[in-house]
Amino acid sequence: METFLVGVQEEHKVVETAYEGLIQSIRVSMDEKDRKNIREAYEIALKAHANQRRKSGDPYILHPIAVARICAEEIGLGPTGIICALLHDVVEDTEITLSEIENKFGVRVAKIVDGLTKLDAAYNAESHQAENFKKVLSTLIDDVRVVLIKMADRLHNMRTLGFMERHKQLKIAAETSYIYAPLAHRLGLYNFKTEFLDLCMKITDSEVYQNIAKKLNETKKDRENYVNKFIAPLKEKLNELGFAYRIFGRPKSIYSIWNKIRTKKVEFEEVYDLFAVRIIIDVPAEKERISCWQAYSVVTDVHTPIADRLKDWITTPKSNGYESLHTTVIGPGGRFVEVQIRTERMDEISEKGYAAHWKYKGISSQPDVYERWLDSVRETIENPSANAIEFLVDFRANSLFKEEVYIYTPKGDVQLLPAGSTALDFAFHIHTDIGYHCTSIRVNNKLVPFGKVLKNGDQIQVHTAKNQKPSEDWLKMTTTGKAQAKIRSAMKEERKRKGEIGKEYLERKLKNLKVEFEESLELILKVFDYKSSVDLYFDIATETRDIQDIFKRFHVDAGKLKEISAPFVFPELDKQAADKKTPVKPSEKPKLLVNGESAEQYEYSLANCCNPLPGDDIFAFLTHNVGLKIHRSSCPNAAHLMVNYGYRILSASWQQSNAEVNFIAEIKIIGVDSGPGVIEQLSHQISSQLGLNIRSMAIEGDEGYFECRLKIIIKNTDQLHMVIKSLQALDNISSVVRLD
Ligand code: MN
Repeated sequence: METFLVGVQEEHKVVETAYEGLIQSIRVSMDEKDRKNIREAYEIALKAHANQRRKSGDPYILHPIAVARICAEEIGLGPTGIICALLHDVVEDTEITLSEIENKFGVRVAKIVDGLTKLDAAYNAESHQAENFKKVLSTLIDDVRVVLIKMADRLHNMRTLGFMERHKQLKIAAETSYIYAPLAHRLGLYNFKTEFLDLCMKITDSEVYQNIAKKLNETKKDRENYVNKFIAPLKEKLNELGFAYRIFGRPKSIYSIWNKIRTKKVEFEEVYDLFAVRIIIDVPAEKERISCWQAYSVVTDVHTPIADRLKDWITTPKSNGYESLHTTVIGPGGRFVEVQIRTERMDEISEKGYAAHWKYKGISSQPDVYERWLDSVRETIENPSANAIEFLVDFRANSLFKEEVYIYTPKGDVQLLPAGSTALDFAFHIHTDIGYHCTSIRVNNKLVPFGKVLKNGDQIQVHTAKNQKPSEDWLKMTTTGKAQAKIRSAMKEERKRKGEIGKEYLERKLKNLKVEFEESLELILKVFDYKSSVDLYFDIATETRDIQDIFKRFHVDAGKLKEISAPFVFPELDKQAADKKTPVKPSEKPKLLVNGESAEQYEYSLANCCNPLPGDDIFAFLTHNVGLKIHRSSCPNAAHLMVNYGYRILSASWQQSNAEVNFIAEIKIIGVDSGPGVIEQLSHQISSQLGLNIRSMAIEGDEGYFECRLKIIIKNTDQLHMVIKSLQALDNISSVVRLD
């Protein structure tokens, strides 16, 4: 009893200290009332969560305190945001109601907490994550603070993810890299994005992560010495310029180093720019530009710049508002060093993005990039025709990752389109009707194909005709969500028209069976997994689905259609699976654990997209028709699957005894083409030297170099690494990598 009391008191102390830490981290000025309100919010949350604990065993209240602290410290939110962060899980998990919050803190706080609660509710339900994300964005245009607090919430959950079960970790990491990291990027929350990606990598590729972290740590001293040597002569000259500044070396994130290793196909030791040097200048607004260029000229006086490596994001900021001068110079010992030059204001915006942007509104001469972006988000959300998954895909493509191009109308008006937009996108951008009836397009007075990608400054003229209408292949000639949504909805109309006959057919059949139409239709849609009746009618009309086959699955019982419960494989889906020819049937089934138990009880197979091997991190995905598919955690499809079908993810791992099983690995070899001997050399090495079987080999050559894709039969990742090493050692081979 006594020890328990001591425990409670100690815990109390920990919580109180955390709260004080939060108060100290608040950067904005507050009056008495703000302080009182924050304290009150804290006490409400403390009481409400009194009996709850985190997975780690910590008192639950530490989570909202930590989230509020991230909001204060790393985003710079004021009292309202902090109060909302403290209360963000209260309505969801406890007895406190929204109206109590409104009475205490006013309507604004209640609204934000409500937004956060709705988001959480959506997450807990087993609905599609895409649907949830749509909600995230709808609240974003309402009050951006909802999303900023949600980001802080996600960041704290990611930081403490170690206590979760593996499959939940994977799912949350996938969602984070798929949605939250790009959104953080778009909102200019650079530090969030970097930390998100690092934390995701720590989960999906933990070995590589630890490895790089270790190497970074080992080389830390060297790096610091080098940075000092690089900076010293710069300081002398910068001091002469007469303004305040800070200069320091900044390590790059583990994720970005890994990215370099992967994309440039180099070893850690070959990645030179493990850090960047940053110069941050403190000058009044009117001196920003000139001071940055002065600093630039100091840098390039002292260290030789590399031609073409100057990036001027001060004159034209990035579309997420990022402003900075970047250059790469040759430092001591001939090493390339990236130098970033910016002002305190630019630095704050570059790290806190949208959150800092309000503070400096009107200071920068640049157009308001966030306002413009939010307008486009608004437009995407208000577009009703896209379903949630299409919406998410469009949104990622068009709103999160794209820059913009300036296009001129024949009258000389400027229109802003996402980079990568085509001539046909432009037609839809101007007006839906112009898009629908577009017959030909001229760019800079020349006729162009509809799919022509537009460049900055292009001038466009669209011609239309009344009887023209969109067709399926227009989807391929457009890239913007707007145009594609319009084309899809036109196609849907068309499908509907064509499906009329299928509908009649089905109606007649159900009438003959003397069952009620609506109810039976709903059951058929459910059993055959149709999203809408239009698709079913269309498939019946076009005989894609045989109506006789449909009714093989049902019988009539007491005037109602009933599903026959025997297991059933969709014939056409089965055919689809067979068409995607599996290159080799593994000699014996690999032995796996799914959710910690033997996988024998399931139907399962390895995914062809990423060909997992024993030694790879894996997970299982429950498919509609072919049981479990086993993917690598790093599979390029994994993020998409986890985000949209997170509830179908199961954790999986290899069992020890897979020595008798054959697996497939695909590798890419790039080398210098030394004549017809290349293929023999490679196949000799693999078959004779290593004693392995080649499944398939595709080789392509161009101007003295070749690229070879090779599928080999293999036992595990260790053996694969050995193969890669041994091929790398051959003459004329420049890189050997496993394909994702
Ligand atoms: Mn939370």
